[in-house]
This record gives sequence, structure tokens and C-alpha cells, in this order.
Amino acid sequence: MNTKTGRIVIALLGVSSVMALYSFARPKAPVEADSSYRLVMGTFAHIIAVAPDRRTADKSIDAALRQLQNIETLMSYHRADSELAGVNRSAHKQPVKVSKETFEVLQKAIEFSRLSDGAFDVTVGPLVDLWRRAAEANSAPTDSELADTRSKIGYQNLILDANEMTVRFAVEGMKLDLGAIAKGYGIDKAVEAMKTCGAVGGLVDVGGDIRCFGKPSKGKTHWLIGLQDPNDKIENRKSKIENSIGMGAPLLVLKLTDAAVATSGHYRRFAVIGGKKQSHIIDTKTGYSSDKLASVTIIAKDATAADALATAVSVMGAEKGLALIEKLPETEAILIPAQPNSGLIKTPGAEKYIK
Ligand code: ADP
Ligand code: MG
Repeated sequence: MNTKTGRIVIALLGVSSVMALYSFARPKAPVEADSSYRLVMGTFAHIIAVAPDRRTADKSIDAALRQLQNIETLMSYHRADSELAGVNRSAHKQPVKVSKETFEVLQKAIEFSRLSDGAFDVTVGPLVDLWRRAAEANSAPTDSELADTRSKIGYQNLILDANEMTVRFAVEGMKLDLGAIAKGYGIDKAVEAMKTCGAVGGLVDVGGDIRCFGKPSKGKTHWLIGLQDPNDKIENRKSKIENSIGMGAPLLVLKLTDAAVATSGHYRRFAVIGGKKQSHIIDTKTGYSSDKLASVTIIAKDATAADALATAVSVMGAEKGLALIEKLPETEAILIPAQPNSGLIKTPGAEKYIK
């Protein structure tokens, strides 16, 4: 027997003994636990955990929900006791120390502002407030009100100190609104917590922004995620809960593993002010809402990127938005123009995710 054959025999023996061990201690099929719908971050969250046993699956769901609640407590725009509210009250007077989570979100927010040339900008707060007051009064703001408000905005005026972990505003009256990124960040933190708990697969859905990892149980190879049709009439939906969680007829189904998907669009939330539709996504360069696209869906590696980029592309429009997404690795876009029946616009790489 030459040495080469000898090595092959040893290798084969190695394989068969591993197989013998495997069949002796064959792991049980993973189990799947489901959180059902929970109210968090002003919307409905739904979590699925796949784990070697029921206890680990349940523990992972609890850990994910705790993370989402923690991010809401830190970053809510509306809660007066959130860390963000404290920053908005004081960061013009002095640097404000923040948690590592808030600091990290702000660092990422600045990154996405630079990438999108300011289309994404978390300093949008004063414009959000102006349009909320306009909606209450049912009267659009004047040009001078818009100009005055816009002068308090600009991510260049957000100053972060990484050594001190502080935030400072260079302009008085500036206000941060993390509504376009905190959900995605919360989802990423929830997924991280589930993996730490021992989940081998899972899905975290917060108001339709989703990240999944591993595989679903029962031999399925992908997570299937329905993309809502923005032109689906609300009257066609069966119940109140379907409305609030955005469950209409899916326009198409995505099959994902280890990826995130987020959708932004003016069809989701808007007000009619003085007879004109004003959506919740604002172009800080004009002060008005951006309604070029009915909806923007981004597929990315993590939910923070998917969430922020979906808002950025909503502001940028199809041409500039697609050019940005094409530049980014492992990132795809599916756009639905505002005019009904005008079809879908996709990056070429999006096709492989469509079932
Ligand atoms: P949704 O909340 O429907 O998932 P988005 O992720 O696009 O949608 O977030 C929209 C929210 O982000 C708005 O309600 C507002 O709080 C904030 N926002 C509005 N315009 C911008 C913008 N240009 N850049 C960053 N945040 C924005
Ligand atoms: Mg967003």
C-alpha cells in the first residue's frame, strides 16, 4: 500500500466514524416559536425564532422584544422621557452624553446622509414639526416659515465626539428625528440578541421592515416575504388589524436568507393639507414632502441600511436613487412609481430575490 492510498483509507475511516457519531447523537429537528403581533415602536412587531429547543426559542423572542423596547425608550421622538428628547432639548447649549446605541445610530445616520448627498437627514425634526402643525391647522406653511425652518436643518450641523460619546448641535432650534432609521437599528439589535440566546434562525418584522437569518424550520430553505401593493385599496382589506400591519394583497413575494428588507413610501402615511397630499418623508432641500415614488423597497445585509436607504431613495427619486443603490454591494431596490399601472423599476440584482 503506498502512502497516498493509506491517507485515503484514513480519511474514509475518519468520515465514517464522524457519521457513526452523528447518527448516535443526531440533533432533534429545530423548533419554531412565534411572538404573534406586539405593539412596539408605534407599530406592530412580529418575531419568529428557530432554535434547538422550545426554551431557547422563547428566550430569543423575549430578548428581541426587550431590545426593541430599549431602542424605543432611547430614540422615540414623541416621548418626552426618551434619551433623544433630552438631546433635542439641550444639545445646542452643551454637548450631551448619550448611550452607545444612540451614538452608533447617529454615526450611521451621518454616513447615510453623506452617501445620499443629504436626501437622508435625521436633522429633519423642525420640518416634521412644522408639517404636523400645518396638518392640525389644515393650512400649508408659508414660504418664509419654510425658509426659516430649513435654516435649522442640516446634518453638517450635527457634531459627534467619539471620545466623549457626546452630541452637540451647531444651530439653535435643530432637532433630531430618528424615525427613518431607528426601526431598522432596533431590528438589527433584536437579531443580534436572538443569535446570542442561541437561535439558529429567525425573523424580526417591525411594521413591515424585516430582517431574517438562518432558515425557517420544517425543511423550508428561504423566508418568504410579501411585498405590499401600494395601489391596493384599503377598503379591500378584511379587518382593522390588516390595515394597521399593512397586510394587503402582496404584489410580489421575496425569498430571503440572511438579509433585511425595508419599504418607505408616501402611500404609507400622509396627510391632506389645504387639499394637497403631504407625505411623512420630507426633502430637506425643498421643505416639501417627496412624492416621486409610491414606494421604495430596499434589500440589504442589515436592517439599518435597508431602512435608511429606503427613505433616502424615496427622496432622491428613481434615477438618482437607483444610481446610488447600484454603487452599493449586496444592496438592491424595487421601486413603484407614483403613477398607477406604470410597473416596477428594479436593480438587475433584485431579480434573484423574487419568487
Ligand atoms: P416609515 O416610518 O413609514 O417606515 P421611513 O423609514 O421612510 O418610513 O421613515 C419616515 C420618517 O422619517 C418620517 O416620519 C420622519 O420622522 C423621518 N423623516 C422624514 N423625512 C426624512 C428624511 N429626508 N431623512 C431622514 N428622516 C426623515
Ligand atoms: Mg426608513
